[in-house]
Amino acid sequence: MTPPPAIEPRRIVIAGGGIAALETVMALHDLGQGRFDLTLVAPDDTFRLRPMTVAVAFSTGQVTDVPLRDVSTRFGVRLVRAAVEAVDADARRVRCSNGDEVGYDLLVLATGARAVAAYDDALTFSDRDLVALARLLDDVEQGLCSSVAVVVPPSGTWSLPAYELALAIARHASDAGVADMPVHLVTPEPTPLAIFGTAGAEATRQLRRDASIQLHTDSFASVERDGRITMMPGGRRITVARVVALPRIEGRAIKGVPADDNGFVPTDDHGRVVGAEHIYAAGDGTNFPVKQGGLATQQADAAARHIAASAGAAVDPVPFRPVMRGMLLTGAKPRFLRSEPAGGRGEPRVTDSALWWPPVKVFGRYLSRWLADEQGIAPSPDGEEHVAIDVELGPDREAAPLALQPLDPDRGRAGGGA
Ligand SMILES: Cc1cc2nc3c(=O)[nH]c(=O)nc-3n(C[C@H](O)[C@H](O)[C@H](O)COP(=O)(O)OP(=O)(O)OC[C@H]3O[C@@H](n4cnc5c(N)ncnc54)[C@H](O)[C@@H]3O)c2cc1C
Repeated sequence: MTPPPAIEPRRIVIAGGGIAALETVMALHDLGQGRFDLTLVAPDDTFRLRPMTVAVAFSTGQVTDVPLRDVSTRFGVRLVRAAVEAVDADARRVRCSNGDEVGYDLLVLATGARAVAAYDDALTFSDRDLVALARLLDDVEQGLCSSVAVVVPPSGTWSLPAYELALAIARHASDAGVADMPVHLVTPEPTPLAIFGTAGAEATRQLRRDASIQLHTDSFASVERDGRITMMPGGRRITVARVVALPRIEGRAIKGVPADDNGFVPTDDHGRVVGAEHIYAAGDGTNFPVKQGGLATQQADAAARHIAASAGAAVDPVPFRPVMRGMLLTGAKPRFLRSEPAGGRGEPRVTDSALWWPPVKVFGRYLSRWLADEQGIAPSPDGEEHVAIDVELGPDREAAPLALQPLDPDRGRAGGGA
């Protein structure tokens, strides 16, 4: 019998305590067969599944925090509770906010992005301020709010929560017997959930009919005081009682690490940071234009495979090839849509069965199973009410992934529109 390949023990520091960081830890633990010496440097005690924020709006779920101690115990990771402040790439050391210096053979940056308010005169939808969201929904239920607009800002943010939020608000109004309260959704996307191509439009079509949401696509909003919204191009105006906006996101440049003008870290297909030795990055903090939890796990897996292969493990270093998986919480019965690559013109296929397993909102090869099997975190808020969409981005996207425009995927496509 051939002995299994010897895996070089490596000191690997992972910076971050979110989706990409945890997927990296779990993938390295598995692929490295427990031979890697792993350290997680994260400022918080807990991991928060932020995409579940919107479940609060549906009153069917909650944002669950998982202690990072559980990850540390289960996967043999040392925890340093601090933020990475600077990286000395030559000395292979990170400097932490608690004054510690931690040496590494390889560093994986998974520090995410910063969500900042896109408009001064709107409520910003964020997992940090669930009280404000709950207050808005209370007002809707009590008839204290005559109309609401949900706004997707022009910067390339993940738009799906805006649709969920609009549906949740409309549902709260109708459940409370507040008849015909106008709910507007204002988005720069040319079609609803444009990143998912025809499947996105299909997923939202019937819902909009049922929930009577007024959709304003191709609209770049400016929000003024007293709920006045002007949409460009064209200058159409609406005035609503309340405005909720998704945040825009900015990179978190770390001293000593290459970053673009917006603070995002440039990476190659295997997650290696361009212009730095021995450093990888995954997730929202990289310069991949679509910021989404599922993609963050796929980037983490690609980086972990490359690290494991380079340490001698018998795995192929498969590059990052994005597959978009979206779960739209709807308050209706579950539907599953599989589509051709985003921007394609074919009809999406509707299937009865789950498109990925476990059918969670953020699917990560390791993270989802761990959350479901070992943390008992429910697959979807009540296990039922969602539309799931599965789209490969297609060969031209693979050739030019950085050209992808998250809110308008046809723009920037080779041979595509302006
Ligand atoms: C309201 C909302 C709804 C969403 N809905 C969906 C959805 O339905 N589906 C989906 O796929 N995605 C969704 N997303 C996007 C998804 O949450 C992100 O894409 C995902 O969290 C990115 O993972 P990440 O690990 O890169 O970053 P994060 O999850 O943001 O984690 C970053 C981590 O790094 C830590 N950190 C920050 N700075 C440092 C530092 N200097 N040193 C060490 N650690 C640091 C942070 O504390 C945090 O633990 C949603 C996002 C929001 C805000």
